[in-house]
Amino acid sequence: MNKKELTILQLYPRDMNIYGDWGNVLTVIRRAQWYGYEPKLLEYNPGDTFPVHVDIVLGGGGQDAGQEKIQADLLKMSPKLHELVENDVPMLMICGLYQLFGKFFKTKDGVMIDGIGILDIETYGGEERMIGNIVTDSDEFGEIIGYENHSGQTFLGEGVQPLGTVRKGAGNNGQDNGEGARYRHVIGSYLHGSLLPKNPAIADWLLEKAAIQRYGEFSQTILDDHFASHAREIALKRPR
Ligand code: GLN
Repeated sequence: MNKKELTILQLYPRDMNIYGDWGNVLTVIRRAQWYGYEPKLLEYNPGDTFPVHVDIVLGGGGQDAGQEKIQADLLKMSPKLHELVENDVPMLMICGLYQLFGKFFKTKDGVMIDGIGILDIETYGGEERMIGNIVTDSDEFGEIIGYENHSGQTFLGEGVQPLGTVRKGAGNNGQDNGEGARYRHVIGSYLHGSLLPKNPAIADWLLEKAAIQRYGEFSQTILDDHFASHAREIALKRPR
């Protein structure tokens, strides 16, 4: 029997892919294979043709300069991405692309980088960088463990929910204890590290939403996650 294909699109890997974010792509691919699916990875960089069919979209972080580089193309792709979001395609956007899935990122130098407004969030660059290991609590995924490094302070509007509550670290803005944002099947987060190898529950959520969307069901088996559990235990003990 032919394996069921799942198409994973990585957004702007050339400019938006730092602090290990590539590990998110590897994790989704590997876990899809373990569950018996046939993952197909596509990359989208500025000027490329946007693929006709996509099951999961992943995006990473980047320097302010990288964000400026992709901005024009991202705005061009905005209707396509909005359509996918409204069709409940699961997406994970980290840091720089999390910010640009919001309304805007105003850098500390006063440069206004417009976002595509999928997430009801606004981001303002500050003088202080928020750097270090971070742990948050979430109802759906339990403890979420990662690493953050950003100057942008993100504030959530009414159209989104935070992904987690900060236990250690800064999170969205260092003030309101929130980290990340959720809207439909989109997760935005500041957590690098990479996020998914240490938080397989989120990877499985993305795969489940994608498989149900495309095939009406998700064939999930029990995986041996002891390496991930061990990595979580160690990362949890790290100082800020
Ligand atoms: N340039 C953005 C900031 O500093 C995003 C950084 C990142 O993606 N790690 O806030």
